[in-house]
Amino acid sequence: MIPPRKTRTIRIRHLQVGGSAPIAVQSMAATQTRDIPATLRQVRILEEAGADMIRIAVDSQADVDALAQIRAQTKSLLSVDLQENYRLAEKVAPFVDKLRYNPGHLHHHEKHKPVEEKVAYLVDVARKHGLALRIGINAGSIAPSYKERFGDDHVAAIVACAVDHCAMVDALGFHDFVVSIKDSDPRLVIDANIRFAQARPDVPIHLGVTEAGMPPEGIIKTRIAFEQLLARGIGDTLRVSLTVPFDDKGLEIKVGRELIADIEAGRFRSVPPNFFDGLNIIACPSCSRVENARFVELAADVKQMTAYAKEHDLTIAVMGCRVNGPGETDDADLGLWCGPNFVNLKRGPEDAGTFSYDDILAALRRELDALIAARATS
Ligand code: SF4
Repeated sequence: MIPPRKTRTIRIRHLQVGGSAPIAVQSMAATQTRDIPATLRQVRILEEAGADMIRIAVDSQADVDALAQIRAQTKSLLSVDLQENYRLAEKVAPFVDKLRYNPGHLHHHEKHKPVEEKVAYLVDVARKHGLALRIGINAGSIAPSYKERFGDDHVAAIVACAVDHCAMVDALGFHDFVVSIKDSDPRLVIDANIRFAQARPDVPIHLGVTEAGMPPEGIIKTRIAFEQLLARGIGDTLRVSLTVPFDDKGLEIKVGRELIADIEAGRFRSVPPNFFDGLNIIACPSCSRVENARFVELAADVKQMTAYAKEHDLTIAVMGCRVNGPGETDDADLGLWCGPNFVNLKRGPEDAGTFSYDDILAALRRELDALIAARATS
């Protein structure tokens, strides 16, 4: 039931991705990279679950040093997430097999440099070290120039950004790259990936629904997107993002493989009635930038505490760090992003205070009650 895919095949060391190669299943370490024992434990958990590749985020020299030690203790293919600090590419390159950059984060450093120059630098590093690249676009961090050009049409903005970055990389004569276009809403993921695949049918695609949240909703959101896309022959590698305790991260690989097997066998699940109505909780899967491991527990507590409001069409976002948390909670009705020993609460894009981990649930409850009451009278 998965039709032949039309993309070219790229190589990430020994792993082929795209074309007729099996769909590769990958995941990401949820721990702070500089905590080497914890991150190695994540790597082992993902290896045991059968991950084809493991991604690790790196933000600092301490993370780079840790990555070097982790590399020495695993034979797994490693991908690194550069996020805002794209210049770390040359430091991490000797220890990894693939680099991921987010076009929406390239403007943060060296603002005077044109994006083309930054992309040329990344391609140069990848070429010198024999690495593959991922152009990893996230609807929560659209590059400012595309926001200006496309306004509220986020899908048009992210697809245009993906197509332009492919053209930049093509122009440099580099072909070992994949593209991902992710969002927390599976409907946007479907729309954007179909449009991108029409524009660039040759480019292998990495699928994912980011910040899908906790099971079972996170799995259902992912399934909705992957069923639609894989059944159209779109998707060459994938990652399932779930907010689960760090020791349960193997579930992401297990679910990814089950989804592929189900779609191949034609076992499609119907979307539960009214799935998109009512309270929507989005939560990040955690990564090296997580500020406090209590984040995962907090996300579960938020889900439990807000169950009383499940009939209300509201979105609550729970994010693990200050890097992506502030931006990626802007579009939610209420948002939480975690610091090391405090949690920031937001009302849409507005700040609604900072609370301890012990006090945040009560503050969220007050905000939620006020929002529901305000909507009832409007
Ligand atoms: S919000 Fe922060 S901690 Fe969560 S996955 Fe994104 S970068 Fe990592």
